[in-house]
Amino acid sequence: SSAHASGLLDASKLVITRTTAPKRLHPPEDLVFGKTFTDHLLSVEWTASGGWRAPRIVPYQNLSLDPATCVFQYGFACFEGMKAYRAADGSTRLFRPDKNMARLNKSAVRIALPAFDGAQLIELIKELVRLDGRFIPTARGYSLYIRPTLIGTQPSLGIGPPGSALLYTIASPVGPYYPTGFKAVSLEATNYAVRAWPGGVGDKKLGANYAPCIVPQMMAAQKGYHQNLWLFGEEERVTEVGAMNFFAVLKDHKTGQKELITPPLDGTILEGVTRDSVLILARERLVPEGWKVSERYCTMRELAAAADEGRLVEAFGAGTAAIVSPIRMIAWNERTVDCGLKAGEEAGETATRLKGWIEAIQYADEVHEWSVRV
Ligand code: PMP
Repeated sequence: SSAHASGLLDASKLVITRTTAPKRLHPPEDLVFGKTFTDHLLSVEWTASGGWRAPRIVPYQNLSLDPATCVFQYGFACFEGMKAYRAADGSTRLFRPDKNMARLNKSAVRIALPAFDGAQLIELIKELVRLDGRFIPTARGYSLYIRPTLIGTQPSLGIGPPGSALLYTIASPVGPYYPTGFKAVSLEATNYAVRAWPGGVGDKKLGANYAPCIVPQMMAAQKGYHQNLWLFGEEERVTEVGAMNFFAVLKDHKTGQKELITPPLDGTILEGVTRDSVLILARERLVPEGWKVSERYCTMRELAAAADEGRLVEAFGAGTAAIVSPIRMIAWNERTVDCGLKAGEEAGETATRLKGWIEAIQYADEVHEWSVRV
């Protein structure tokens, strides 16, 4: 009868089954990223013939899937990472959730999973966050990490578009990335593996993009580096810092002008929500101070030359987990590129300002349209 009968995702059809065994809250300081989850999960089934079914919130529980299910065999899985923040006024806020919905839809359609109405999923996520709001620690820097996930559930070894799918969302309370203040990271530029390539899927948040990143990460860790730096091509363009977007601040010695640079969205890097937010705030707040803001390629050779000439002022990663993560140095083949921090300094001025600006919006100290009330 109604338009929703055709199987569109419809938040108004939500059915909630509350847990009868609420979990004990862990002391906030004991939280380990992604290890503990809230009382409930949100789930919506989809079939090719019927579209989206009625959404359900149920007690957090295992999934039961046939061993032949296509998600296990062929990697039909994509996901998002976003957070809910508790503001000083007690309200709970999401940060630019529309961006996560748009990205999840792009990831989904690339692997033949169904698209959905992002505004409806935001409403459903708000319901989950309201129901499990007690899990969000109130202290600054704490948040509820939200993991929307979409998988193919067709129980068949045939390689083809999944005839059924499951869109579910789980949530995990998390502590501040830097409990004791910024800690600059040391990176190893990976020269034997690439994360993504033109025409590939590096700009999508597919589960399949993450498993192959662990060995290079372990190789870097073995030599004492915190993370690996992903490069691409003969020219060794910098692409991403582990699972964060890359930024650098360069200074022109003649004019004194500072330039904030980050690689362009050419399909080989994830379209980070934090990256986009940094660019918008930099254009709004740094350009009036005389800065240049550029989405352009930056090679390791250019970065090393800038460092040698004292023009590399700062480098940092940007992502939901840490907002910004200052970089101390990059090990690149036989040499070390020093990224501008003074001895004992853990963050540059730009990284510090950007983190402050974004955090002020996330925790609603500053009224901003990016902060969406739950
Ligand atoms: N690059 C990669 C590969 C990532 O996994 C992430 C985390 N989603 C980012 C960049 C940063 O994206 P965002 O700012 O949306 O968290």
